[in-house]
Amino acid sequence: MTMRRLCTLLLSSYALLALLPLLLARAQGLPSRPFMDDLASGLALAGFAMLLMEFLVSGRFKAVSASIGMDRVMQFHQLMAWLLVLFLVLHPFLYTLPMGVERPLDPDRATWLKLTLWPGLSGWVAWFLLLILVFTAAVRDDLGIRYETWRASHGIGALLIAAFGLHHSLEAGRYSSDPLLAGVWIAAVAIAVLALLNVHLLTPLRQRSRPYRIAALRKAADRTWTMELEPDIDAGHPGTPFPYRAGQFAWLRFRRPLFRLTEHPFSISSAPAEWPTIRFTIKQAGDFTNGIGDIPLGSRVYLDGPYGNFTLQRGDVRPLILIGGGVGMAPLMGLVRDIVGRGVSRRLRIIQGNRRESQILYREELASLAAASTAQVHQVLAEPPANWEGEHGVPDAALLRRCIPEQERQHAVYYICGPAAMIDAVEDTLLNEFGVPPEQVISERFRYTLGNRRGSTGRVLKACLATAGVILLGVALFALS
Ligand SMILES: Cc1cc2nc3c(=O)[nH]c(=O)nc-3n(C[C@H](O)[C@H](O)[C@H](O)COP(=O)(O)OP(=O)(O)OC[C@H]3O[C@@H](n4cnc5c(N)ncnc54)[C@H](O)[C@@H]3O)c2cc1C
Repeated sequence: MTMRRLCTLLLSSYALLALLPLLLARAQGLPSRPFMDDLASGLALAGFAMLLMEFLVSGRFKAVSASIGMDRVMQFHQLMAWLLVLFLVLHPFLYTLPMGVERPLDPDRATWLKLTLWPGLSGWVAWFLLLILVFTAAVRDDLGIRYETWRASHGIGALLIAAFGLHHSLEAGRYSSDPLLAGVWIAAVAIAVLALLNVHLLTPLRQRSRPYRIAALRKAADRTWTMELEPDIDAGHPGTPFPYRAGQFAWLRFRRPLFRLTEHPFSISSAPAEWPTIRFTIKQAGDFTNGIGDIPLGSRVYLDGPYGNFTLQRGDVRPLILIGGGVGMAPLMGLVRDIVGRGVSRRLRIIQGNRRESQILYREELASLAAASTAQVHQVLAEPPANWEGEHGVPDAALLRRCIPEQERQHAVYYICGPAAMIDAVEDTLLNEFGVPPEQVISERFRYTLGNRRGSTGRVLKACLATAGVILLGVALFALS
């Protein structure tokens, strides 16, 4: 299935599932209420369904990530989070009917709202927790809390919101007290919890039967390390290869008690043919990676993966242009090693950007590749030494024009990885100045932020807006009925 078809299928399923509670509520045929009250209920029904689907969207599904890419999935997760927050935050303020006063002559609740103490309380607790969850996710970097602490609190917070939200829906919801819709909510919450347990409990349990050990660890450049893993056969690894494609990444979990969230995503910089060795290039970037060089050889590591779609299309023979910044060269080197190892004949151009000379990764390997083949390697330094013979500056439009011949520009397939600002700038140049078709520009982001609106993120944004539009239309139709 092509990526476009899969995206359409996933987005339609998402929109349908978000609208399912509205359809089930409408099918109950209850007497109509004022427009604003049904709008409030409609927003809550769609918003709660979207909230529960966030567990699935942020769950790790190898097939989905391998076809549309984990960063796109996470961008969708973030954008849908804003929409559902808007729905759920507005929901309590739109009601016009009196609440809390039971009217036995109106069991269908067309003229009153059933909001007694506990359902009211659970609703407000879920409402406040949701605001805190989204606020802390948005300003995570400025809060100065550890990533692991934030991630654990994000997961626990989401679970609490789902639990309080379920109680509120079943006890206070006019439509959700119906047995069918109530059953759907209970099943949806159970699936959401399972998705979370799959990442944090079932996957770690499965990984225990496939342990790896650190076979080599050496400095690769300034503050950057090469780590080589091998299957730990003595500890029970069956010896079957880790089934990755060049350019993919894995979550590495270092030996810790089961429930410690100490796993980190790293791109695989080796090629599958190098099995039983799997290589990673890791830059010191924070509390865990700063200590990477001190981990003893032989230490136990578990791999969850492979994930991602930063891979070569089989049978594609178009020229390949790889643009990497800093440690963003890691997945690109996986692609290079794969192409070289398999003897694929493809025109290859590598543009590698760094600030200083001491940060250049894989320098000798790339130089020998350029000497022994037609591959072109452009080393770019922002702060070059006096005797530097390579390019000066950063991979901006002027540099890309200098390095990529005009006749190659629109025909080539581009793979980009590096700092977000670099990816944004390169995508802008390729798409808007060189006129490269978007499907020929493939990028991998090391941080799941929304980033540029014009490059690959632009497509995610458009897809999200279309999905949001369908859902909003559904809510409006429900309210008007
Ligand atoms: C798909 C992908 C591939 C990556 N490949 C590489 C690579 O090949 N080499 C490399 O050096 N770095 C890579 N990274 C970045 C690497 O994961 C982070 O630098 C590392 O996790 C930082 O951890 P820390 O505890 O040292 O720093 P922290 O200060 O804890 O984190 C710094 C930032 O890294 C990110 N991060 C931290 N932990 C996680 C996590 N468990 N899941 C997702 N993001 C996290 C967060 O954005 C955080 O703000 C990759 C990231 C992603 C998403």
